[in-house]
Amino acid sequence: MDVLYKSTRGDGSTVTASQAILKGLAGDGGLYVPVQIPKLNIPMSDLIKMNYQEVAYEVMGRFFTDFTEEELKSCIAHAYDEKFDTQEIAPLHEGDGVYYLELFHGATIAFKDMALSILPHLLTTSARKNKVHNEIVILTATSGDTGKAAMAGFADVPGTRIIVFYPKDGVSPVQEKQMLTQKGKNTHVVAIRGNFDDAQTGVKQIFNDKELAEELEREGFQFSSANSINIGRLVPQVVYYVHAYASLVRRGKLKDGEKMNVVVPTGNFGNILAAYYAKNMGLPIGELICASNDNKVLYDFFRTGNYDRNREFLLTTSPSMDILISSNLERLIYKIAGSEEKNKAFMESLSDSGAYGITDEMKAELKDFYGNYATEDEAAAAIRKLYEDTGYVIDTHTAVAAAVYDKYKAETKDLATTVIASTASPYKFARSVLHAIDAERFDTLTDMEQIDALCEIAKVPVPDAIEEIRTAPVLHDTVVEVDEMDGIVKKILGVW
Ligand SMILES: *Cc1c(COP(=O)(O)O)cnc(C)c1O
Repeated sequence: MDVLYKSTRGDGSTVTASQAILKGLAGDGGLYVPVQIPKLNIPMSDLIKMNYQEVAYEVMGRFFTDFTEEELKSCIAHAYDEKFDTQEIAPLHEGDGVYYLELFHGATIAFKDMALSILPHLLTTSARKNKVHNEIVILTATSGDTGKAAMAGFADVPGTRIIVFYPKDGVSPVQEKQMLTQKGKNTHVVAIRGNFDDAQTGVKQIFNDKELAEELEREGFQFSSANSINIGRLVPQVVYYVHAYASLVRRGKLKDGEKMNVVVPTGNFGNILAAYYAKNMGLPIGELICASNDNKVLYDFFRTGNYDRNREFLLTTSPSMDILISSNLERLIYKIAGSEEKNKAFMESLSDSGAYGITDEMKAELKDFYGNYATEDEAAAAIRKLYEDTGYVIDTHTAVAAAVYDKYKAETKDLATTVIASTASPYKFARSVLHAIDAERFDTLTDMEQIDALCEIAKVPVPDAIEEIRTAPVLHDTVVEVDEMDGIVKKILGVW
């Protein structure tokens, strides 16, 4: 069965998977969604025998039906290789009665690597399939992790350029250093004087600028997106939920068909939406627990049915979740609204007034989701407690999920087997993590001393990604105002 894609704001016309991947965002400003979510329909007895790459082929093959077997297997083989420091790619760690699904074993030690190590291959394959000869320009807004992971994926990939925008004061020192030291002739990093939402909105505006697109077309360029609005990011994320479930069945921790809850530290709503897609494919997922930090727009939305971004944007120790406009929520809203028009009206209201409220009928369709949030203190306490109980150290984002999971259990008494998406290595946020464990002992250490201290207490080797930035030279230094974003893109591309 062919799976086609349509826009959440369109007229129902469809494109192939490779066309959707190439375009990133639909021409009408909507996001591409599969017309139908394919079924997993593989016996568990087969799934449990598969390694990560094989599960990846089964899942992605069902979504990307216009890729040949050879094309897709080649993309997978290029993505999930020694760039990951564990053969399992996404291992599970049991701690305090829950399973941490470690999604941070790739090149940039955050979960964005799970999708961004394959997206460049999906994109260049899509370009070839559609006889696109333009150079593909990847434009990306990042709250810290996407930017580095995208550049690592696209660096020196022929036929591509990548421009990353990040909020100047909105990322961690390690995240910033990782980006500013990025090698590759085709990589560009630009800091903006604004927050992540400004960066994301700016990128969307550039995408929707038809005049600019024509100008670029004349010069042999076309834009695409590496943000999680690209369906080529979302689908690879479905894989690890299927793989985790099969691993738990193989280890006798779940019976085939038994429900597994997932807890996801959420920002742009991409990771948890992938879990929702896995559930819609037929994977026995129970509750989808959406964990927010103090920027708790999603928590409020799940409680009240009102999405309202009109509030202060708070900077937290989980910066990759400091987001007030969760782009991927649009895919869920579209699904529960039941029509492009209704979805479009909600999204117009969001861009005009910063808010919208869904109907009671729509709210009833959100029963798969549970939303809650953790304050800075609650997240820090979760890091400390898990370390004291088990010796396992989690990062600040995963900690938000762990703290929310405790609230969920207390509130619902649901003790089903649960997987927490562990989205970054603690090394990426060493200062905040050590502060949570023992402020007095660790706060006075320099950044690099902290890395050594973390290595000592966590008993986990320092990842290559961290070793690299100890010595790497800074190669990028551009800073612009929010309203200069389109100008800098033209300048970088040499189009005036
Ligand atoms: C991006 C990111 C998140 C949020 O994921 P979304 O898919 O945007 O919801 C959480 N934790 C970390 C470490 C991230 O990099």
